[in-house]
Amino acid sequence: MSQILATKPKTLYYDLHFTKPSIHLHSTVSEATCYVCKKELKEGIGLTAKRFADRIVLVCSSHN
Ligand SMILES: [Zn+2]
Repeated sequence: MSQILATKPKTLYYDLHFTKPSIHLHSTVSEATCYVCKKELKEGIGLTAKRFADRIVLVCSSHN
């Protein structure tokens, strides 16, 4: 019985700790898109940072 009471707060803390960074990570990924075709960064597609009109933009491998 005492074991259940001891592990319960740890589980709650882990859930809270894990949820916050995963939301932040998702919002960062959605912003990484190709400047030309708006293709999202995913497996098999490489995005490269390029200087375009005095600012840095991301372009995919087919528009590099
Ligand atoms: Zn592209």
